[in-house]
Amino acid sequence: MKIIHTPEEWKKIRSGIASDKKIGFVPTMGGLHNGHLSLVQKCHKENDISVVSVYLNPTQFNDKNDLLTYPANFEDDSALLEKAGVDYLFAPDYSAMYPDGYTYKVIETDFSQKLCGAKRPGHFDGVLTIVMKLFNIIRPQNAYFGEKDFQQYVLLDGMVKAFFMDIHLVPCPIVREENGLAISSRNRKLSEKGLAAAPKLHEILENESSLEQKKNELESSGFTVDYITEHNGRLYAAAFLEGVRLIDNIPLKG
Ligand code: AMP
Repeated sequence: MKIIHTPEEWKKIRSGIASDKKIGFVPTMGGLHNGHLSLVQKCHKENDISVVSVYLNPTQFNDKNDLLTYPANFEDDSALLEKAGVDYLFAPDYSAMYPDGYTYKVIETDFSQKLCGAKRPGHFDGVLTIVMKLFNIIRPQNAYFGEKDFQQYVLLDGMVKAFFMDIHLVPCPIVREENGLAISSRNRKLSEKGLAAAPKLHEILENESSLEQKKNELESSGFTVDYITEHNGRLYAAAFLEGVRLIDNIPLKG
């Protein structure tokens, strides 16, 4: 696996890749776990060349403390990617990704203002902008995103269509612990007690109960509910546990 730090380095390599070779891309923020690795494995299987980016994108963090305490370790991440058979790891820094100082943004004005967007102002502007930049640099045919962040997937799919970008987005199912907890880098910030309570989020979403009942059940299980809402056939929730913001979503039954 070759590690690349600048768009210029990648562009040189990219120009030497034959046009009939399929390039698959998985963007991540590091702190890699089995959820990320499921995307990487699918990408590796379905393409000739796999590229993964590890970039903790500051513009999508509305909470500075969340950014500063994000549990990621570059050595661990690159070892996992190497083992997974990744060809190129793109690991830029802020100056490489934001030569404009984030004066240019990609903004969606509808769905990005709802659910997580309503609670995390500017979050999806940061997500859409960094993914647009990464797509323009890497120029993959296929890009892989987890349904764990379903709203993000929907918004990126909309961006690709709105801007006539020739990139196929592949949604990938949520990888869960055996107890149902959606795997997340942020789970590492929970205490043992928090980790034992966290699967309740998924369990309560799956219950046959009203939104109001689910909210009450979550609150009495120790969560502080940020929102719980149905949208376009899915049930979405975000809730704080020990100050850690956990998200989950499931398709609505029936
Ligand atoms: P992140 O590093 O959090 O930006 O995540 C990078 C990609 O991995 C995103 O497309 C996420 O949706 C995806 N991802 C993270 N956790 C999971 C999971 N438990 N199951 C499936 N995909 C995931």
